[in-house]
Amino acid sequence: MHDVVIVGAGPAGLMTACELAQAGVSCTILDKRDTDSNVTRAFGLHARALELLDARGMADDLVAQGNPLRTVYPAYASRVDFGRLDTRYPMLLIVPQNGTEKVLRRRAADLDVPIRRGAEVVGLTQDAESVRLTLADGTGLSARYVIGADGAHSTVRDLMNVGFTGETYSLPMLLADVRIPGSETPPITQVGTQGVVVTLPFGDGWFRVGAWLRAERPDAEFAHIRQAFRDIAGTDHGMSEPRWFSRFTAERRQARDYRSGRVFLVGDAAHVNSPIGGQGMNTGIQDAFNLGWKLAAELRGRAPSRLLDTYHAERHPVGTAVLAMTDHLTGLVLSGSRLRLEINRRVMATLLHTGPGRRRILGTLSGLEFAYPPTGPDDHPLTGRRAPDGPTDAGRLYEVLRAGTFVLLSGEGAPAARRDHVRSARPLRGTGPDATLVRPDGYVAWAGDRDGVEAALVKWCGPADHDDPEGQRATA
Ligand SMILES: Cc1cc2nc3c(=O)[nH]c(=O)nc-3n(C[C@H](O)[C@H](O)[C@H](O)COP(=O)(O)OP(=O)(O)OC[C@H]3O[C@@H](n4cnc5c(N)ncnc54)[C@H](O)[C@@H]3O)c2cc1C
Repeated sequence: MHDVVIVGAGPAGLMTACELAQAGVSCTILDKRDTDSNVTRAFGLHARALELLDARGMADDLVAQGNPLRTVYPAYASRVDFGRLDTRYPMLLIVPQNGTEKVLRRRAADLDVPIRRGAEVVGLTQDAESVRLTLADGTGLSARYVIGADGAHSTVRDLMNVGFTGETYSLPMLLADVRIPGSETPPITQVGTQGVVVTLPFGDGWFRVGAWLRAERPDAEFAHIRQAFRDIAGTDHGMSEPRWFSRFTAERRQARDYRSGRVFLVGDAAHVNSPIGGQGMNTGIQDAFNLGWKLAAELRGRAPSRLLDTYHAERHPVGTAVLAMTDHLTGLVLSGSRLRLEINRRVMATLLHTGPGRRRILGTLSGLEFAYPPTGPDDHPLTGRRAPDGPTDAGRLYEVLRAGTFVLLSGEGAPAARRDHVRSARPLRGTGPDATLVRPDGYVAWAGDRDGVEAALVKWCGPADHDDPEGQRATA
């Protein structure tokens, strides 16, 4: 029997597999496709997803191949300065989804994660001990846990019967990746009475262009996108050589439960939203980080009771908030009302001028401000919040996190009996609490006085003398 089977080799499935494999859990990915996906789909990575990828040593590679935009000019705001974010990655990194997937596949290969292609899951049953999957070729396999990372039309979700409520946007969107000549970058968004057109530079002469039109076009043809640009922007910017083209209808939907017994949902299987705001893949990658260490801890016998339930408790509200934000922005852009847009732009400009407004708007778009609910009434205010990167005597915090373990930030080291699952580091900056325990996914588990450390370690990692013969697969 497999420990974990992951259905779907998209970004969410690959990332979850990497997290499990790094923690020493054997897992297999099944994907119905015979080959790797070569479609670009998502175009960008936001700061929080980049920070997490940095916590596994993958972000700088992506930044090197992408186009970091520090300021963007979307239709819903006069300007959004990601450059003002307090992070190592103050940007929206424009990078095609297949570039991100390539980096994730490389890491999965380094961690010896098998990917079985041409393996379509069509059936699922579970009992108290295991989950049984049936494949389209009639074969089957069993696992202690299954993760449905099989995208928006998830079979696993349907078989779990947890519902996927929401709605479909009435207007279809045309998307293409094209070449645009010249050194001038066209504006990101332009709005006209017919709809909205979007242009995002990959930074190498290629651009993601999109048109969301109020009057539905009859066919999905590249000519229609060019015409939409001429109608709305007054020019098609000389776009040519479409290497990818898609006509799709966006939806906003969320699974009611992200867990059903031994089966979990991550990524688009759990939530789908409008592409405005560029959140879909980013949210899925963060689901994977949240679930990976928890499931590994459970399988290694290190999980406190109900840790696995916190996956739904923490990620479902984030999914709901992202859906609300992207829905709001989409409604504005598609409203056809210049007045509504203008009012929103002014409100946003005012808010972006204030510290709290800026933190809230940029923090939500970038994912940096999302925090998880406290675990008890006596929690320190930092509990559940993102742990910011910073220098320590062992390197940057996010470099220390590359071991995939908890990190205890304090003047003293972690107890010797904890060294296989807790790294320690002494912060070189800031005046935080005596000690801070950072989770493997970069959020604060606990903070407080030094005498509270052992109790916090027991709460989060189980008793110190726990038998853990295999040890963590640390890569730091
Ligand atoms: C046209 C389009 C444009 C988009 N633009 C953006 C954007 O601009 N920004 C953004 O952030 N997001 C965008 N998205 C969304 C983004 O692509 C997704 O959020 C992201 O791909 C989700 O990753 P995932 O791993 O959850 O699922 P997917 O990438 O969909 O991967 C699911 C995998 O599961 C496999 N699979 C499915 N069913 C089965 C089965 N029964 N058995 C075995 N394998 C199965 C599939 O073959 C696939 O490889 C866009 C999506 C589309 C369709």
